[in-house]
Amino acid sequence: MGAKLLIVEDSETQLKFLKEELAANGFEIETATNGAEGYKKVFEFIPDLIVSDITMPVIDGYQLCRLIKNKEETKKIPVILLTILDKKIDSFWGKKAGAQLFLSKSIDVNELVKNINATIRRYPISDEYKSNLSIMSSQQNSAQTQLNTILNDLLLKSVFANEFRNLSDFLNYERILVEKLFSLLSSFVEYHVAGIFFASPDDFAENILYIDTLGRNLSKNLLSDIQYDFFRKMEEIKHYNDYKFEVVRMLLGKEMEYQFNDLKSKIIIPLVFDKKLIGGICFYTRQEIDYSSFRYFDIMISELLAIFKMKYQYTEKEFMSVLDGLTGLYNRRQFEISLEQEYNRTKRHPSDFSLAILDIDFFKKVNDTYGHQYGDYVLKTVSDILKACFRKTDLLYRYGGEELVILMPETNIEGAQIPVERLRRSVEEYDFDYNGTKAKVTVSIGLTMNYTNFNNAGEMLKSADEALYKAKESGRNRVILHEQ
Ligand code: GH3
Ligand code: MG
Ligand code: MG
Repeated sequence: MGAKLLIVEDSETQLKFLKEELAANGFEIETATNGAEGYKKVFEFIPDLIVSDITMPVIDGYQLCRLIKNKEETKKIPVILLTILDKKIDSFWGKKAGAQLFLSKSIDVNELVKNINATIRRYPISDEYKSNLSIMSSQQNSAQTQLNTILNDLLLKSVFANEFRNLSDFLNYERILVEKLFSLLSSFVEYHVAGIFFASPDDFAENILYIDTLGRNLSKNLLSDIQYDFFRKMEEIKHYNDYKFEVVRMLLGKEMEYQFNDLKSKIIIPLVFDKKLIGGICFYTRQEIDYSSFRYFDIMISELLAIFKMKYQYTEKEFMSVLDGLTGLYNRRQFEISLEQEYNRTKRHPSDFSLAILDIDFFKKVNDTYGHQYGDYVLKTVSDILKACFRKTDLLYRYGGEELVILMPETNIEGAQIPVERLRRSVEEYDFDYNGTKAKVTVSIGLTMNYTNFNNAGEMLKSADEALYKAKESGRNRVILHEQ
């Protein structure tokens, strides 16, 4: 017995012709005159291959193909679409619908037979698969019902994709992006509280969970419980103290009385790309609902992931261009911009800010004795110690070769002296050890602040440099203050 072919064709003459020609070539044939009938026969006849016309009433060839390819139990059956149309777009749709082959109706019968045999050889169907299919035959919804489900899903997907993609205009306006995301999410997800968090490539960036309460006024306790609950799930985040929350939409009315425990259902989703945490979202609601069972959830997550990924890469690109590669501190260009900005800002709105400049003592000797690589290790380690000694609001830069600068906003020279002295001592006490080679290193530091008698940022920097020079002159491993 030859292979089983299901031929679906609405033209009676065409159907008769194909049936006779192909039967003459030894195939066992079943026929249908439209897609709906064809779909039904797939389960009854269980063909090795389907040859279908494209243009047919009720359910056409593309739709039939989609129906077959959409179902686990039928998708392995190869489909050849026949058409008089020979346009690229038809072939595009045919391929998108999952057809194995796309042939012109005017094809010579011998050619057609050759193609059918080759396709059957290439996509053989196991007996097990066939017997499973025959069991299914009585449990089928009509083709039309199934097709509607597929179409609705596709429509939903494309509407979703569009809505999310429109947000990509706001990648560099985080706050606007967050508001637009909430407004979109709240239009199709049930929640009382939702959260959005963008991870940053900058370790020093604050971890802010943006919260939407749909405008309701919830207690601070409840919100910080949510923030804690959320960040606990972001495994990559170690510094719980650094996280914060920020309510995005205005809080209206009297404070609502429910507590964290009254939120019956929740879902917290870390968004990960390339093994890196790039953000996360969460939803909480007082109803009993199973978020993960929503049929559009997967689509939503993949669209969110795309947006978060773009945002992360955007930030990363910006971030990389201002950082020094070896130390991970901001580079000199960034220092010059920030110093100028901070200086001018405090001229307009008087407030203190301090500047320290650090230089590693006898660094040449470190290089000469242990090699340049060891020198790099020392520089990197001193930078890490620096990061640990200062607050997040302080700004750290690599100013030159082995000179590092700290800008401390809202800090006068007495206040600055404390962390700067701690830094000096931390370096002094640190046991440098690189591949077993141990060393001791010290640093000298010049410290100044924005005294009113400076005329510009340059003079302020110069005063720090002079203090550093004095620190070197007077024996190194010390902090010298520039006194007004
Ligand atoms: P002191 O500061 O106490 O006056 O002595 P010093 O030896 O540190 O003198 P100086 O600051 O002039 O020398 C700095 C040296 O640091 C010169 C250079 O070879 C070295 N250096 C600068 N940048 C780097 C770097 O990125 N890696 C390494 N390994 N060495 C660097
Ligand atoms: Mg130097
Ligand atoms: Mg030096």
